[in-house]
Amino acid sequence: MYTYAGIIVNNSSVKLDKIFTYKVPEKLKDKIEIGFRVKVPFGMGNKKLDGFIVKLYENVLHDKKIKEIIDFCDDFPLFTAKDLELIEKMRERYLCTYLDCIKVFIPRGIFKGVKDKKQNLVYTGKKLEKNFDRNPYKSIYELVEGENGKYTKNFISKKYNLSLSSINTMIKHGFLITGRSTVNRYDERKYDIYSKKTLNEEQQFAVNKIINSDKKIFLIHGVTGSGKTEIYMRLVEKAMKSGKESIILVPEIALTPQMVERFKGRFGKDVSVFHSKLSDGERYDEWMRVKRGQVKVAIGARSAIFLPFRNLGFIIIDEEQEWSYKSDSNPKYNAREVGEIKCSQYGCKMVLGSATPSIETYHRCTRGEIQLITLKNRADGAAMPKIRIIDMREELVNNNKSMFSKILYKSICDRLNKREQIILFLNRRGYSTFVSCRKCGYVFKCSNCDISYTYHHNIGKLVCHYCGSKIDVPKTCPKCGSRYVKYFGVGTEKIEQLIKNEFHQAKILRMDFDTTRKKNSYESIYNTFKEGRADILIGTQMIAKGLDFKNVTLVGVIAADLSINLPDFRSSEKTYELITQVSGRAGRGEKPGEVIVQTYNPENYSLRCAAENRYRDFYNREISIRERMNYPPFSDILLINMSSKNEDILIKSIQNVGIFLRNILIKNDKIEMLGPCPCEISKIKESYRWKIMIKGKISLNIAQNIRKIVYDLLKDVYNDVKVSIDINPINMM
Ligand code: ADP
Ligand code: ZN
Ligand code: ZN
Repeated sequence: MYTYAGIIVNNSSVKLDKIFTYKVPEKLKDKIEIGFRVKVPFGMGNKKLDGFIVKLYENVLHDKKIKEIIDFCDDFPLFTAKDLELIEKMRERYLCTYLDCIKVFIPRGIFKGVKDKKQNLVYTGKKLEKNFDRNPYKSIYELVEGENGKYTKNFISKKYNLSLSSINTMIKHGFLITGRSTVNRYDERKYDIYSKKTLNEEQQFAVNKIINSDKKIFLIHGVTGSGKTEIYMRLVEKAMKSGKESIILVPEIALTPQMVERFKGRFGKDVSVFHSKLSDGERYDEWMRVKRGQVKVAIGARSAIFLPFRNLGFIIIDEEQEWSYKSDSNPKYNAREVGEIKCSQYGCKMVLGSATPSIETYHRCTRGEIQLITLKNRADGAAMPKIRIIDMREELVNNNKSMFSKILYKSICDRLNKREQIILFLNRRGYSTFVSCRKCGYVFKCSNCDISYTYHHNIGKLVCHYCGSKIDVPKTCPKCGSRYVKYFGVGTEKIEQLIKNEFHQAKILRMDFDTTRKKNSYESIYNTFKEGRADILIGTQMIAKGLDFKNVTLVGVIAADLSINLPDFRSSEKTYELITQVSGRAGRGEKPGEVIVQTYNPENYSLRCAAENRYRDFYNREISIRERMNYPPFSDILLINMSSKNEDILIKSIQNVGIFLRNILIKNDKIEMLGPCPCEISKIKESYRWKIMIKGKISLNIAQNIRKIVYDLLKDVYNDVKVSIDINPINMM
């Protein structure tokens, strides 16, 4: 019998990140378990706080001052002992608090008091008697019989236009009865059946290999359109047959709606979907369905890895190279790594899929840690698209100053004539990328963020993409007073305008952050294009992945240089990925696809490899650069980021931290420290930003030590200086 419990309090202060001991009251003793949320008196004033049970003891050494738990907050524990194991590992690895880690296991609605939604639902009662065996009673009865316990009487009356009073009469006579039950807030739309395909040889080989091999982790490296989804579905089905569950992680953007259509279309109610646009109530309901064992497959963005499945068969991570699998707020976890820990906890298998695997994952394949499976052909026999690289410098020489090369222009005309569809890609939204004075060169920047403003034509304002602030376009230059204010660079909004001017008859859609803010806007653009009600789709990285439109035969990349020139050691990897993914949208039907990539760097190696579909060559070169430069996977990077509204305090604090760390790290010749220096983006939302980068073989121990030193040194400026510590971050800027 447990008489004491160790508790983490629900307070985000780093100082309270320890286990507090409480007495278990008599009334809770036979029910108490790890993972319960409880109310406890805390601190000098005995303020009531929520806490989470993470330890149970039969006895403690002294119990003089130990306070008592007040009560449970919920009827059930919110996480299990196994989850707790993972929580502890994550806390160590991702340098954060218990509470940070606990919270990702719990749907946020629970903290706001969301509970099961109960309603009075209508069921059939005794058989209709003779004198009621006529309409409207008869049809009401038949309807309820078909949808027993699904709707409320109001809903039935409204939806089928049946009289409420007749329904009430039937209830009075016992032909219908009502009962209070839990209802799902998630409004389920109907999905077309997605029929099973006969696997081709490559797919069959992959499925067999994954099921029969002793290996735990697999990488399916398959060209775009190779039918990876069909493989995932077979694995999921296999797991289901032996009573096991599966998690499928996809990048957020792929969640709406294609992957979902396919899984719902095949597995129906056994599937649960988690995307960022669910309301707290909907998310809670879906989480509860998983917890109650009513769901066999969950598809979701990275946080779906924490769903309360207890009997996992497969963890599948589609587009495994995606950066969105790494969280950028605490806990700064990587879902790939968490998935791997779960695999060892549950004895399940993990399948990674990609047309452009991350360098790290492919490296692990070459070392035998991950089983590589290659798919070389498109599943439905379609040919791979032809990719052409166009040197935009030559266009300039030939006096073409427009955003479109001659060949792209001609190809667009050609497809419009043939009534085939076109996708144009540009990884920058807005109208023009910066606004500056032609006379003195002054660039208009957001004063909060030190980032140049982007002009948005539709609202006629300059917008900061970091903090969202908007200002009117200045008529004169604030520096020299000249009136020659000019717009430079292009974004998707401008491309849309240019295309409209050139091709009056074409129907054009634009998909980017600005056009998809409303709840169903993504879906509506997607459907319009899919149903052929538009000719050209213009978009940012949102349209680069996953979409499967059969009638698209031309993809144009307006400016490949944007990703080539990123100040990041992963820029080549990103370029390869982007070109491959965007190209993968072309020629997915019977008609062959063509891709036109415009660039000022036509000899760039990643670009060339991507155009010729030579991943292996690209990888070999990239891995040797990583090794020479000691970048991941040959080292870890620990990024310490500090920010403050007070620049003096910030610089003093980070320099102090820098001196301390350097003194300690100097003894370790496997670790190198860079900085402190200002971040590339030196100010965001009025906060100045500096960083220290530590590169090398960083063990858990060293990382924990560094964290401790940083927090100790910042104790006195805690209110002024924010600090973030990230192991292997995705964003270095
Ligand atoms: P990937 O995810 O690998 O890019 P998809 O899963 O989107 O590829 O598959 C590409 C297309 O091929 C889809 O339209 C899919 O329905 C189809 N497909 C998949 N497997 C088969 C198969 N065995 N036979 C015929 N068509 C298939
Ligand atoms: Zn000026
Ligand atoms: Zn700003």
